[in-house]
Amino acid sequence: MTDSIGSVDHDAAVLIIGAGIVGALIASHLAERGLDVAVIDAQEIGGSATRRSIGLATPDPRRAHRQQTARGVEQLTTIARRHRIEPRVMRVLHVAGRPDDAEALRRMVADLHADGIEAQWIVDPSLVPRAYSGGLHVGNSVLIDPLLLVTRLLEHDKIAVKQNVEVYRLERRRSHILALALGYTVRAGAVVLAGGVYAGLLSPYLADSIHVARGTVWRSHPQPPIPPYDTTAILVEGGHVSVAQTAEGRLRLGAWGWSEDQSNEPALRARSYLEQHLPGMLSQTESWVSATAVSTRDGAPLVGTLSSQVHYALSAGAFGLAWAPIIAEQIADSILPRRHT
Ligand SMILES: Cc1cc2nc3c(=O)[nH]c(=O)nc-3n(C[C@H](O)[C@H](O)[C@H](O)COP(=O)(O)OP(=O)(O)OC[C@H]3O[C@@H](n4cnc5c(N)ncnc54)[C@H](O)[C@@H]3O)c2cc1C
Repeated sequence: MTDSIGSVDHDAAVLIIGAGIVGALIASHLAERGLDVAVIDAQEIGGSATRRSIGLATPDPRRAHRQQTARGVEQLTTIARRHRIEPRVMRVLHVAGRPDDAEALRRMVADLHADGIEAQWIVDPSLVPRAYSGGLHVGNSVLIDPLLLVTRLLEHDKIAVKQNVEVYRLERRRSHILALALGYTVRAGAVVLAGGVYAGLLSPYLADSIHVARGTVWRSHPQPPIPPYDTTAILVEGGHVSVAQTAEGRLRLGAWGWSEDQSNEPALRARSYLEQHLPGMLSQTESWVSATAVSTRDGAPLVGTLSSQVHYALSAGAFGLAWAPIIAEQIADSILPRRHT
């Protein structure tokens, strides 16, 4: 195959740049509808934020986001089951240190109920970590292994995956887009930028819109069940720290800080939570990993089109897994009708 630029290594109806949870869900949607999809990742599949996530899919309790993220958790659960993955059903306890923030959480109970999300305010000391007066206990949540889900989603006859290849430029050619990588070129009818924090490398608009969050993930060796983390994930201050125990007994703790806020160092936050609330557990450390992920000022994902053939879908914040199926569906819907009419 050749193009005016030289040889084309792969032709696809749609090219997805980024094999994280968002790219994999979009690829799977399109492949199930019969399109030939190419997926390229600069690393191994799921190698960036998705692999480092603690895997908690839960509704964002804030009014503007709760209905969509609750629907996202339901969809992710259904999709995981369809791919032979049984998510661990969890409750999530939101706690906040400042009295105003705690009060704001307490006031959300009635609204969450009205939107069909199980919620109550609890003060039970066996569930609420010391230092917090109470917490918003929310149902409708699951813990999944996002990397396993990405792997299964991409196992499809219609999906061709290329790993360890970074696309450095997109060029328009008549009715196609060429995606150029060193020694590898893909020609596609449409392209989706699902590159997480790196999407800005291909689009100045996205570079200006992405707010980068720095994260740290700590994992323990398998442990016996540790209440409440075996049934209830703890989310501190909207996800600045989140902790849960997986079915195989590993504790996963993720901590976040905003890139410009040096006083909020995620590794120090993570360590301080462990020392205060899980004493002795640092000796059970299996790994510490650093990460970056997209965040936005209001926690909403970035999704839309740069041109009729180039789309973008970037999940954001501590509720990124719950947003992922919602934005994947939006992108698939915007690509499919045009192609089939
Ligand atoms: C510490 C931490 C803990 C988290 N915990 C949770 C949690 O418990 N629950 C939750 O909902 N969310 C959590 N998140 C957020 C969640 O991980 C992300 O929202 C989600 O994984 C984003 O997925 P994605 O597919 O958009 O991006 P990514 O997983 O980052 O995937 C993007 C991929 O694109 C590739 N790429 C980028 N540019 C190019 C290019 N030019 N060419 C080729 N490939 C490219 C990258 O290599 C990468 O693999 C956490 C994040 C962090 C950092």
